[in-house]
Amino acid sequence: MPELTDCHIHTYRCGHATGSAEDCVQAALRRGLSGVVFAEHLPLPRSLDPDSRLSMPAEQIGDYLAEVDAARRAHPELAVVTGLEADFLPSQVPQTAQTLSALREAGVTVVLGSVHFLDGWAFDDPDCIGEWETKDIDEVWKRYFAVWCDAVSSGLFDIMAHPDLVKKFGHRPSFNPAELYAQAAAAAAAAGVRIEVSSAGLRKPVGELYPSAAFLRAFQAAGVPVVASSDAHTPDEVGNNAEAVYEAMRQAGYTSVSFPDGDGGWKEIGL
Ligand code: ZN
Ligand code: FE
Ligand code: FE
Ligand code: ZN
Repeated sequence: MPELTDCHIHTYRCGHATGSAEDCVQAALRRGLSGVVFAEHLPLPRSLDPDSRLSMPAEQIGDYLAEVDAARRAHPELAVVTGLEADFLPSQVPQTAQTLSALREAGVTVVLGSVHFLDGWAFDDPDCIGEWETKDIDEVWKRYFAVWCDAVSSGLFDIMAHPDLVKKFGHRPSFNPAELYAQAAAAAAAAGVRIEVSSAGLRKPVGELYPSAAFLRAFQAAGVPVVASSDAHTPDEVGNNAEAVYEAMRQAGYTSVSFPDGDGGWKEIGL
């Protein structure tokens, strides 16, 4: 078995997760992982997250960075990388770019990009699931992939999180999405970003990895490198189903998985 890593871990600071960085590091060590990336949700604009239920409060960013630093110093036996999960908000690209560049100066070495909002609708939030009833699923899928390709091409992100999150609750298009997958994979290759293979989908109604096997094959064919993720929101979920993630990568034809070196570069681990 190759070294196991987890590139997407949350802490209590985002308001919908539990556990400190230290708790998650302890869990990673118990599970025998060799490296973890903390990817707390970058604070959203107040209008989208008025009570800090979806993202960490802006005033906690400094404490978050210090907490991850402390966990790294306390555990030299584990690679502990400081990252963030940032939303792609099409109307806020310059502001997001400015925020992320300041945070990269402050010690963030990897940024995961996510599409959780389509035109202001948090389509993956269980509290907003009712809105699906008012939508044409085919149109939501097409809109999701159009926004996803813009996110990839924005230059804001190093890794794209849960690439086919639109399927979270099991909503499937009536058409074969192969063309959307090919376009997304080509956009990712052109932008030089990596994508995560996330076990989080196994814990959701859809019951499968993000991305699907067909989408992952499209990324492999386009030459897009991968990282392994759990999107843990509790210490218990750190490294969740890592073996299934690595097996899916091998099935798709990948021979290595990336892990950030904490200095803006990447290390490749053979599968
Ligand atoms: Zn979250
Ligand atoms: Fe996310
Ligand atoms: Fe996440
Ligand atoms: Zn996520």
